[in-house]
Amino acid sequence: MADHPVVPVRAVKLVGILALQGGFEAHAKILRSLGAQPREVRVAADLEGLDALIIPGGESTVMTLGIEREELAEPLRALAARGVPVMGTCAGMIMLDRDHLGLLDVRAERNAFGRQLHSFEAEFEVEGVPGGPVHAVFIRAPWVAEHGDDVEVLATVDEHPVAVRQGNLLAVAFHPELAGETRLHELLLSLNGHTS
Ligand code: GLN
Repeated sequence: MADHPVVPVRAVKLVGILALQGGFEAHAKILRSLGAQPREVRVAADLEGLDALIIPGGESTVMTLGIEREELAEPLRALAARGVPVMGTCAGMIMLDRDHLGLLDVRAERNAFGRQLHSFEAEFEVEGVPGGPVHAVFIRAPWVAEHGDDVEVLATVDEHPVAVRQGNLLAVAFHPELAGETRLHELLLSLNGHTS
């Protein structure tokens, strides 16, 4: 036996992706490219031991039903309360807001860019993301219509917040994963969380 304390070293971060509905595979690919290990989350037990969690895009109404069906709301709130970093993208931003999981002090407005403007791509700087503009894909995206004082706005489009952070919670209205943009995932992995 070694006479020094054994410090558990977990080089590979285990990142959950809520996989009830929506686009989780593209996130998994980005996470693997960053050396993290993705895990699809379908039931509460899948949240155990995660170093971070992603709530992907999809349809917030369908995702809400899935969270109710699997009784995931409380376990998700507990995970965030433990300080585990969580990132919501598009519908995931909606799920985090005041009217849904109530984790982020924002009100996300669904389909905020208008029905005609189904999808578009844009490039802009995101605070905390070095290396030039982020390439963002918006698909029937929300924006943040209201937010509390603790919410930091990291990026805006037409003066509407589309990337926000509140402590260990990160939410973006767009899909970084569909543009091969890895830096938001890197930001998520760099947020200081406690391992659950
Ligand atoms: N419009 C969807 C919703 O309101 C979100 C779209 C997306 O995640 N790409 O839930």
